[in-house]
Amino acid sequence: MHYISTRGNCNPVRSAQAINTGMVPQGGLFVPEFIPKIDINSINGSYQEIAYTVLRSLLTDYTDSEINDCIAHAYNSTTFDSDQIVDITGIGNNRFLMELYHGPTAAFKDMALQIMPYFLTYAKKKSGNSLHTVILVATSGDTGKAALEGFKNIDGISVIVFYPNGGVSEIQRLQMDTTDGLNTHVVSVRGNFDDCQTGVKEIFSDLELRELISKNDIEFSSANSINWGRLSPQIVYYFYTYSILVKSGSIKSGEAIDFCVPTGNFGNILAGYYAKEMSLPIRKLICASNKNNVLTDFFSTGTYNRKRDFHKTISPSMDILISSNLERFLFEISGHDAKAVTEWYHNLGSTGSFSVSNSVKKTMDSIISAGWVDETDVLDTINKTYKDHATIIDTHTAVGVAVADRLRTDSTPVVIASTASPYKFSCDVLNGMSEAVNADEFAAIESLSKLSGKKIHRAVDGLRSRQVRHNKVIDINEMKECVKSIIAGSIRR
Ligand SMILES: *Cc1c(COP(=O)(O)O)cnc(C)c1O
Repeated sequence: MHYISTRGNCNPVRSAQAINTGMVPQGGLFVPEFIPKIDINSINGSYQEIAYTVLRSLLTDYTDSEINDCIAHAYNSTTFDSDQIVDITGIGNNRFLMELYHGPTAAFKDMALQIMPYFLTYAKKKSGNSLHTVILVATSGDTGKAALEGFKNIDGISVIVFYPNGGVSEIQRLQMDTTDGLNTHVVSVRGNFDDCQTGVKEIFSDLELRELISKNDIEFSSANSINWGRLSPQIVYYFYTYSILVKSGSIKSGEAIDFCVPTGNFGNILAGYYAKEMSLPIRKLICASNKNNVLTDFFSTGTYNRKRDFHKTISPSMDILISSNLERFLFEISGHDAKAVTEWYHNLGSTGSFSVSNSVKKTMDSIISAGWVDETDVLDTINKTYKDHATIIDTHTAVGVAVADRLRTDSTPVVIASTASPYKFSCDVLNGMSEAVNADEFAAIESLSKLSGKKIHRAVDGLRSRQVRHNKVIDINEMKECVKSIIAGSIRR
């Protein structure tokens, strides 16, 4: 199977090359030329077994043993603190949490970023690529640390992470700034996430920089969810969760259910869309947003308009106004209309908005429901879930639960993606639980552990005493120079 560009501006490539390249150099994202179907009856077994079935059907140029090796390295009891990898918890009324935060950094990004470095290493090996790969990452908080952990000390690869200065939680900042490993670089940018993401995209397509790096036997790649190597492993947990619900008798095999996903860059929910197209019985995908509700507006009006105020919220990983992966979704539901996608994204760049046709809007409506909630709803939902079901959820998961509750009109089972451990956003979570809040995140972590009776997630345990190793702060327009100086100075070969 080949991968093609959402903008029709690149020759088809195999999955290894799509993963190695990241995004299409001239703009556009790689998508599979067709979506393979999976027999739902073949989906049962361990997380690793289901991962094999799903990934095998998508990454057809990797051998069986390569795929199995990647899976074995990524999903095991050293990397994850749950033997099942993903735990599923009922919270009453046919609602289930799909816990995606048991990896090394306590956020769902680990689900993909634990395996992607192995995909990339094999991709390079398969094509005889001996260049040094510099992974450029823009992060709203969680991707950065997950990428640093995933790629740390992997031969032939370096990572540069850009995060918005003051735009990530204290825990997230410390997680990133204390990263060890000889090939890791962390830079704080005076701007918001969209500035970081735009800056990275510009660096990718900067011709002068491209020339410079190729002279130095270096190439750029991406660990953001614009990379297919990020997206494909996320499809796995939709199948896995469904199989567990069948196994536990919560649903009947073949029964259609809803998934509600707290959304930022549209990566996680897009993986759910691919799972649905691969034949997983999903009725609706519910797109849940915080106050940055650009997607809610888009799904209700058909017009995407990024010209609006940016809000900093207590679910910072969803504080995004340009949801990159929406481009893939629009390409798929428009019947691979690369011309329309190119025009829409050209308009988005030049005027800040675009509108889809009525027929595309109609197709969207049949697949997606969308809603958003404000900060009070988030805190109330944390409180209610704790009081009624003795379950502590983080601020992002709470957006999902609140939106799922609000949009619900019947008792169809709904699975909510639980995207971060509450320990990662401890003060706000404690605040929601109406417990006294000490301004110190670490005191809040201790309190959460006492209240839940669960041990502190190892991603945050001991964080306070770890040595800060990265402290560079730059302006938005200095990103390119920063990359240049890192390349000139400290790339390890
Ligand atoms: C990244 C992230 C999200 C948003 O996921 P997207 O794939 O960007 O839509 C939600 N919650 C948490 C905790 C995250 O880290």
